[in-house]
Amino acid sequence: MHDVIIIGAGPAGLSAALWCDELGLDTLVLEQQAEIGGQLLSVYNRIGNYLGARAGSGLELRDLFAEQVKDSDFDLWTDAEIESVDLAGKRIVLKSGEELQSISFIIATGVRRRRLGIPGELELMGRGVMESATRERDEFAGKDVCVVGGGDAAAENALLLAEVCPTVTLVHRGQKLRARSEFIERLRGEHCITVFKESTLRRIIGETEVEAVEIMREGALKPFQMAVKGVLIRIGVEPNTELFSEQLHMDESGYIVVTGEQETSVGNVFAVGDVSNPLAPTISGATGAGATAAKVIASRLHS
Ligand code: NDP
Repeated sequence: MHDVIIIGAGPAGLSAALWCDELGLDTLVLEQQAEIGGQLLSVYNRIGNYLGARAGSGLELRDLFAEQVKDSDFDLWTDAEIESVDLAGKRIVLKSGEELQSISFIIATGVRRRRLGIPGELELMGRGVMESATRERDEFAGKDVCVVGGGDAAAENALLLAEVCPTVTLVHRGQKLRARSEFIERLRGEHCITVFKESTLRRIIGETEVEAVEIMREGALKPFQMAVKGVLIRIGVEPNTELFSEQLHMDESGYIVVTGEQETSVGNVFAVGDVSNPLAPTISGATGAGATAAKVIASRLHS
């Protein structure tokens, strides 16, 4: 029986673990990936707004976090895939068959990139379907590309690609881009960027690598094909909460609803980081929430 089991070893989970350890709690962290870091592992931009540390990428910040927690006494299991969770009964069964029990849980499972779910999206990943414009821009220099989405991420990535690609087509399902006005102004000023609004990507076409995309424009009778070598999809994120469905109060998008103490609708089950913070997901907010949950748990256990 542990005092705390923390699910997820991104910034929120690691901060919670550091604090739980410092507060004398018997703590186990379960991370389903082979390494810690969560979303930091797929941030390729410079991080300059996390107070106290500057990093050239998410991986660099992850390494700073890893260095800081390495002398802590909490247990950390990577590759720990969860089969099922009983939040009320405070029990977890791992895919390996192991059963775990704890007085309290901290859920720090974060969010993942939303996918379109169209043919070619997964099959051509890494073969024209890009992960990150920052990381792969040089590879796509001189090639025509397509970006999907209408938020800040799609706009920012389209602008990055426009620095090196002859044409960038931004495909957005809505009538209005959601990206901030500064990005929209810059998109207008880039002659190589074309914005297709009220349009959806139907298919990414290619045998061994991306050759074209199929686009359907609202009001058109049939889709048309456009030759491109690269596709980047940035249509937001969704919370990793499937494991807890039906057990917790969530909002309509699946984010976990928490109190000011980070507690969920189930007693002694807490949620921290992006999984419970749809409005302002930041690394700073995640580490702060992890600390809050740890302090509340410690005060209850020690009282
Ligand atoms: P957003 O949630 O802001 O935008 C997602 C976009 O994708 C929307 O335009 C949405 O369309 C569209 N979309 C959603 N689902 C689908 C779908 N199934 N098919 C087609 N289109 C879809 O996500 P972002 O990833 O852009 O940004 C996430 C957060 O990160 C935001 O808070 C953003 O401000 C922030 N960010 C900030 C940056 C910066 O400041 N430099 C850079 C990147 C991100 P619709 O509008 O019709 O709903």
